[in-house]
Amino acid sequence: MPIITSKLPAIGTTIFTTMSSLAQEHNAVNLGQGFPDYPMNEKLVALVDDAMKKGYNQYTHMNGYLPLREAIAEKINNLYGMGINPDAEITVTPGGTYAIYTSLTAILRPGDEVIVFQPCYDSYIPNIVVNNAVPVTVPLQYPDYSINWEAVRNAITPRTRMIMLNSPNNPTGAVLREKDIAALREIVADTGIFILSDEVYEHLMFDEMPHQSMLRYPDLYERSFVCFSFGKTYHCTGWKIGYCVSPPAATAEFRKVHQFNCFSTDTPKQVALAAFLKEEEYYLELGKIMQRKRDFFLQIMQGSRFKMHSSFGSYFVLGSYGHFSSETEKDIAIRITKEFGVATIPVSAFYTDSTDNKVLRFCFCKKEETLEKAAGRLCKV
Ligand code: GLN
Repeated sequence: MPIITSKLPAIGTTIFTTMSSLAQEHNAVNLGQGFPDYPMNEKLVALVDDAMKKGYNQYTHMNGYLPLREAIAEKINNLYGMGINPDAEITVTPGGTYAIYTSLTAILRPGDEVIVFQPCYDSYIPNIVVNNAVPVTVPLQYPDYSINWEAVRNAITPRTRMIMLNSPNNPTGAVLREKDIAALREIVADTGIFILSDEVYEHLMFDEMPHQSMLRYPDLYERSFVCFSFGKTYHCTGWKIGYCVSPPAATAEFRKVHQFNCFSTDTPKQVALAAFLKEEEYYLELGKIMQRKRDFFLQIMQGSRFKMHSSFGSYFVLGSYGHFSSETEKDIAIRITKEFGVATIPVSAFYTDSTDNKVLRFCFCKKEETLEKAAGRLCKV
């Protein structure tokens, strides 16, 4: 066999697969990988069934089923007040992660620098590196994980090509505020810097806070790839369907990469989503439903030794344990899975340096009984 020189020598298996496999092996409650354990909406399932029976089983348009793109454009207009051309600015993709990878691959050239805040979702940095671009990491400020905009200004060089944002943030539950948007606008104005905005948790906002989408701000949108996921909104992470919204010239480049990668995305599910997207109440209620789960979980975790953080969005909340153990995050996450039967995610997996603040990520988009079972076990740790 020819010798392989790895393009990603430092990369092993993603923490989500590692912890989910460990959870299965030890029959643990899985609060690690982010996915719901309750059924998705039955009407949406029936719409897929219907679409398949009606014969929507062949390739759809490579950019996405047009009625779905039209429904997305209408939704964006209603929510964020931005007029989007469904033909030129929306591409349906096999998942949000794919949309992020494709955006980066469409834009980055060798040596381009990308500003990434850490902790960050674990695909970002390998996606940059595989394109021979350079991740420039800026730490979010512990413990509230806010952005230090002065540090961002200092990290910018003539090679900076992109800034990656993620609000609501995975894994921290932090969200962008108006003051962040003001700082961002000032930094990118009159530069050639793109924004990659991962907004897959757009509807999972708590405490009546507005989601600060790039789609609210024309001066930010004109340089943005905004990535979304139906899996997160419709409780079907296994469907792997998302989309990217970007101005026409950027979308044209995005599609050059997309068309020769997967070409098109699952047809019957797009047909179903095109109809279901019109049901506004579904996603307008989602934040409140998830907020109740957050509050329930935080309340039952009061009996544990973990110091729980705030979470303003996403379906994750962090818990600190440094006051009762000096173990590394990875070690304690593995031990708690094996000894107590609850899987979590060590936040150190979202850093490329050795940051270990002794914090674990808990996923709370679970049935109450699952959260109760997990918290009961975590209270013994
Ligand atoms: N986004 C999910 C999480 O952070 C999982 C994604 C994945 O498993 N690749 O848990």
